[in-house]
This record gives sequence, C-alpha cells and structure tokens, in this order.
Amino acid sequence: MTDQILVTRSSLPLFDEYVEEIKELWESHWLTNMGTKHKQLQKEMLSYLGVENIELMVNGHMSLELSLQAMDLDGEVITTPFTFASTTHAIVRNGLEPVFCDIDPETFTMDTKMLEELVTDRTCAIVPVHVYGNICNIEEIRRIAEKYGLKVIYDAAHAFGEKYKGMGIGSFGDASCFSFHATKVFNTIEGGAVCFKDKDFGLDLYRLKNFGIRGPEIVDSVGANAKMNEFCAAMGICNLRHLDDEIAKRKIISEYYRNCLEGVEGIQLNPVQKDVQSNFAYFPVVFDEKLFGASRNEVFNRLETEGIFTRKYFYPLTNTFTCFHGKYNVDQTPVALHISKRVLTLPLYAGLSLEQADRICSIILQCRN
Ligand SMILES: *Cc1c(COP(=O)(O)O)cnc(C)c1O
Repeated sequence: MTDQILVTRSSLPLFDEYVEEIKELWESHWLTNMGTKHKQLQKEMLSYLGVENIELMVNGHMSLELSLQAMDLDGEVITTPFTFASTTHAIVRNGLEPVFCDIDPETFTMDTKMLEELVTDRTCAIVPVHVYGNICNIEEIRRIAEKYGLKVIYDAAHAFGEKYKGMGIGSFGDASCFSFHATKVFNTIEGGAVCFKDKDFGLDLYRLKNFGIRGPEIVDSVGANAKMNEFCAAMGICNLRHLDDEIAKRKIISEYYRNCLEGVEGIQLNPVQKDVQSNFAYFPVVFDEKLFGASRNEVFNRLETEGIFTRKYFYPLTNTFTCFHGKYNVDQTPVALHISKRVLTLPLYAGLSLEQADRICSIILQCRN
C-alpha cells in the first residue's frame, strides 16, 4: 500500500547533524557511563524542562522502577489502571501492592475525588499518570500526600516539556519520570529521566542506575544498569534543537482534528486544560457507539482497511492483564473500563500533513453510515 499512515513516526534530526554530533565519540572512545554527551544533555534538559534536578536514564520504565526503589517504600501504592504496562509493573516489580483508583471521565487522569478513601495505614505512595499529556489534579494530590505523609511519583512519560501555571511539569511531586522512547514527543531512541527535589534521593538514583556502586570498592545497594549511553544522549541533543518546531506542528494537526471532530454526536475529545502549556502528545477520541453510530472497534477496523493505523491506547487496562491472574477487581475502576473500551488515539506526528488528517477525519465520519 502506497499511502499507509502509522499512529506515530519517530522524530529524527538530519543525518548529517547526528553524524556531526557523534564524531567526538570516535576521538574519545567513551561510549557510555556518563560521558560528555550525557552531561551536556542533562544540562540542556534542566533548562528546557525548567527543573532543578534531573538524572538521565536508559528508558522511562527504569526511571519509574528505580525511583520507587530509591524511596525505599513498603506496602500499598495508589495508582490508575488507565496507563501503559510500565506504571503498574514498576510498582509490582518493587514488591509493592498497586491499589487502583478510578480516572476522571474528562481528563482520564487519577480521579482525586476517590483518592482519599483509598488511603490506608499501609499506603506509602501515589503514582499518578499525566495521561496523553493531560495534567493530573496536582494541587489535590499534593494536599492528600501531605496530609498522610505519602510520596508522589508522577509518571510523566507523556508530558515532556509541558508547563503547569508556568512551571515545568517535572517540578511537581517528589519525582517525575519521563520517557524518551522512539514513539514519544521527544526521543533519545530509548531513554528517560527522573526530575526530583531531594538531592540525596538523586544520589541514590545515580548509584542505582549504575549497579549500586558507591565507590571503586564499595557496592552498597542492589542496583540495576539504567545508564543512558552516549549515542542516545547525542540523539537527544539533536532532537531537542528541533523540539519546539515539532510541537508547533503537532499543535496545528491537533487543532485540525479538533475542528473536524468537535461537537460530532457520540464523539468525546479531551478538554483543553486551563493553565497548561501542552505538548500535543496524543489525540484520543472516545466513541459512544449508540450516539455515534459505530463502535471504537468498527472505526479502528475501517481505518485499518484504508491503511491507517490507530491505536487502542490504553486498552486493555493494566488491572486486567493476564499476568495478574484476576488478582484485581476491574469493577472498582468502572470509568477506566468504560473509556478503555471506547478510546482510539489517532495518528499524530510532526510530519503528518493536513491532507492526511483530513482523510482520517472523513473516513471516521463515514463510519456513521
Ligand atoms: C512509554 C511509557 C512508559 C515507559 O517508557 P519507556 O521509555 O518505554 O520505558 C511508562 N509510562 C507511560 C504512561 C508510557 O507511555
């Protein structure tokens, strides 16, 4: 098929720009373990993200997993099931128990009206997700965390570069974890980062990403290997130069989609959030079969026959995963279940043309007949 449209397409700098960036590596022979590219990217990110502290990581998942480990937690962690496998897995792989809070029906982030009643004397932390780049109810999460002495670790994988009330999104909570996976708004091929407040936590994190090595002859924690290598850091340095342009293009496409689909009966779009500088990471559409005239799956299949690949994201919910053997009761998160069965994210990347966006909208609207 000549005109296939995938749900995303990874951003790349010009070939020559990347080659120029990695030339030094052939001079230094320093390929990983916190080299000059790693240090440079770390520094540039601090200013781009508007945060005080950051630690680069091998991916978003290890950012979450090692942040939880560095906090030395025990017991229950309140989170949501409307997320990528990584969020729940990071909790479970730390020997912690996820407790699932339902999501807000508008933003699909943690419903803070239900959060407080899930707190028990075993709760140690909250792991909310800025889903699709929609910002969580930060004030309310902070209030509840302070009241009960809980840590807050944001899964900010979707929220790179966003600002809330003028502040970098990574400056909220005890830690915020970003993903720089190839499919995200900003990529380092694979990569991630943790932004945090407490410098001691940062030192622990630094050691945990390097096997728990404290000094040449001292290894005092059971760490992992989660260092970002120099080639990935170099990709990040290049991609960061073009990011504002890419986000501006994503904005135009998102607004085009919104103009075509807003107000159509049976279609729900995410709200434009007040006080949020968005990165236009995703464009989710929720289909109400009765009102719209076609189900999410019908729209998905119809687009697929036209060579357009959307994504049922997030579906299924993490609390229904086979690996958990029915341990969690999905009826406790009915809104998340409802949305996961009806949501579709549309193709969105800087190189998508408005003609393509228009074709996608037309096919979606034809599904009604
Ligand atoms: C992508 C993603 C992750 C994991 O990031 P990786 O870099 O792929 O390890 C975690 N949480 C969410 C919500 C994500 O979308």
